[in-house]
Amino acid sequence: MDTKRWYANDFQQDKQVAIQSAAELLKAGETVAFPTETVYGLGADATNKAAISKIFQAKGRPQDNPLIVHVATPQQLKELVTSIPNYVDKLLEAFTPGPITFVLPSNGRCAENVTAGLDSVGVRLPGHPIALKLLQEAAVPVAAPSANLSGKPSPTSADHVWSDLNGRIAGVLDGGATGVGLESTVLDCTQAIPIILRPGGITKEQLEEVVGTVMIDPGLANEKERPKSPGMKYRHYSPDAPLWLVEGPSEKLQQVIDEEMKKGHRVGVMAASKTVAAIEADLKKDLGANMETVAAALYDALRMFNEHDVDLILCEAFSEQGIGQAVMNRLKKAASDYIK
Ligand code: AMP
Ligand code: MG
Repeated sequence: MDTKRWYANDFQQDKQVAIQSAAELLKAGETVAFPTETVYGLGADATNKAAISKIFQAKGRPQDNPLIVHVATPQQLKELVTSIPNYVDKLLEAFTPGPITFVLPSNGRCAENVTAGLDSVGVRLPGHPIALKLLQEAAVPVAAPSANLSGKPSPTSADHVWSDLNGRIAGVLDGGATGVGLESTVLDCTQAIPIILRPGGITKEQLEEVVGTVMIDPGLANEKERPKSPGMKYRHYSPDAPLWLVEGPSEKLQQVIDEEMKKGHRVGVMAASKTVAAIEADLKKDLGANMETVAAALYDALRMFNEHDVDLILCEAFSEQGIGQAVMNRLKKAASDYIK
């Protein structure tokens, strides 16, 4: 398949034409990747079963992993579900459009392969202007998982999408780098108290400020429990070389690096600026000065190591406060070892 690539940055004069062309393909039952404020999504008409199967095929995604449906307005969200608790209205007001997905009882309007046979549906209103414009133009709910090959780090640029999916999808809207850099927070809103199924762009602390108590799915913390969000049981975000998380001061990280280098291994390290400045390794990736920059740089860093010949990647363990919770959730899924 010939994959189209439209440039839709603000400086581009024919941005509207690009978005309209992408929307036409979506309406015709094709798959199109587009930027959101979290990561790039691979979209298809959520009401069209054949179009949705093309997403699973292009990504090599397991069929039992449901897709998040993207809409432009709260009204469109309401058209996909049977009921909405009051607290969701508050969260819609406070955080949308933005990086949060609401899991609600489905009314069956979405194709059955969107929800993987569950009686709930995950819906989100993305905050990225190109995503919103595309959804308005397409005028259908658009199911869109991350636009990467299943198992690979999520794409935070159109180049990442291109390297995974060129030839497998109808088109890519190139809107430059994404913002948050990690996927949305997935919130189960089918109970009296909301439950975080996947930590993400909106933190637990932010949610609690608006609705009081928020729970965390026990399956997230405990390996033995089955996570309620089907996608969380898969190993994810993996670079090609093994990744180890290392907790503690930079001296300890340096010790692990030295031991591995002595064995003849080429060692890559990713860490925040302060730690990067304090250590020596074969290849260093600076994730920036704070947790926001770490989140935004994380997937690009994992992909960067794939392009360099390293035997092992070491990453410093971060504090699980605020967006740090989502960062550590992704790192633990990518890592094969955690040195404490
Ligand atoms: P992705 O779009 O690739 O970032 O993955 C979407 C995430 O949302 C996966 O972890 C899914 O399992 C989760 N998800 C989507 N719909 C539902 C649902 N109805 N119930 C629980 N989790 C869901
Ligand atoms: Mg994904």
